[in-house]
Amino acid sequence: MTPTLSFYGATRTVTGSKHLLSVGKAEVLIDCGLFQGPRAWRDKNWEPFPFDPTKLDAVVLTHAHADHLGMIPKLVKDGYKGPVYATPATIGLAKIALPDSGRLQEEEARYHNRHGLRSGAQPIYDERDAFESLKRFKPVRFHERHELPGGANWVYKPAGHILGSAFAEIGLPNGELLMMSGDLGRFNTPIIKDPEIVDYCDYLVIESTYGDRLHSKENPLEKLEECLQWAWQNGGTILIPSFAIGRTQELLYYFRELQNAGRMPRIPIYVDSPMATSVTQVYAQARDEHDDEMKIAISEGESSLEPMGLNYIRDREQSKALNKQTGPQVIISGSGMANGGRIKHHLKARLGNERTLVLFTGFQAEGTLGRDLIGGNPTVSIYGEDVPVAAKIEKMNALSAHADQGEMLHWLSFFKTAPKKTFIVHGEPAAQQVLAEKIRQELGWHTEIPEFGDRYELGN
Ligand SMILES: [Zn+2]
Repeated sequence: MTPTLSFYGATRTVTGSKHLLSVGKAEVLIDCGLFQGPRAWRDKNWEPFPFDPTKLDAVVLTHAHADHLGMIPKLVKDGYKGPVYATPATIGLAKIALPDSGRLQEEEARYHNRHGLRSGAQPIYDERDAFESLKRFKPVRFHERHELPGGANWVYKPAGHILGSAFAEIGLPNGELLMMSGDLGRFNTPIIKDPEIVDYCDYLVIESTYGDRLHSKENPLEKLEECLQWAWQNGGTILIPSFAIGRTQELLYYFRELQNAGRMPRIPIYVDSPMATSVTQVYAQARDEHDDEMKIAISEGESSLEPMGLNYIRDREQSKALNKQTGPQVIISGSGMANGGRIKHHLKARLGNERTLVLFTGFQAEGTLGRDLIGGNPTVSIYGEDVPVAAKIEKMNALSAHADQGEMLHWLSFFKTAPKKTFIVHGEPAAQQVLAEKIRQELGWHTEIPEFGDRYELGN
């Protein structure tokens, strides 16, 4: 029987990765992510899966972002009883991220019911479902080949995207290779290893988040230094909305670098996020995944993720107390697009003050508070209140966990022969088109952009 690959997410959109491999008599799901984008996609999170969870034989995860594993608790709730394979660091992060996601779903459902926004709103899953699903996780280390049902096997290779992120290279029974590359990271980013060079596969599935764009070449250290100098001179507070996984740790690393180079004034740094605090511990402990610089620093007794003056805030009351504290200081808090989490309280308290600098460090999607602020709105709405903006709004353009177009083509350039088929997923339609065209022009490869529910035979 010819193996087939079906696409049930990240199809002409960025979130909801779910790819179903049918091989022999077995069904293997690669990633099981939440849809997080436009409403029409998000509604799918509540619908039954487009496949039968009780008939799945294995799940292989590429990394711990919600759009790749956020539906695992629902999969288990709906009857999946098999193993969920992931790298040890991905499991470490899932233990933090999934229960947190369950709590958020519960809160959201309560909010909708209370405000009559959706009658009888139910969480997609709750915190208990999340803890229950964690029992199914089985660690698989990088570079160790393991059997899959149906006569297939697979090996994880570092993807350089976030801690624990992996390509899953799947060996099919006929010896052909299917490369599920998950999210592709960047070369020369701090803390974690670079993406592994791959030079062969028969079928490739590749993301395209930045398929039509190049990242800024701005030096993140210089931008941070400028903001810190401003805070020092003006007694100002720097608010940094930040993702808990990856971005917060990168920022801590850069603060430490600035301090080591004598380029940072003595300013306290507050990480006001229980999740980011736990994630930073996982990052610091995952020695196997650290790049050379990080390993050397640790061997010299240095804690690269602990700049001097760092304080972790877990407690809600302590977080509130920060609102009254005057600068100079740095407060890093979630969420990264300022559409939820503790950062909203800090913004509400400080946006009206001209001694506040808000530093955005990542992409701000349409419809988020972050996008409104970057767009220069003189007044924004937070918790139903109009808040005037007197604060300085700055943006760091260089930080991203995803390869840009040039970096993707660079990674693909190591292939010795063209894959038979290259599937482009995980991108907005425009980005996918541009990347597909580039791959055709520069490499002469055959590309496909699957639609939701499309199934392809992996044969001749
Ligand atoms: Zn990701």
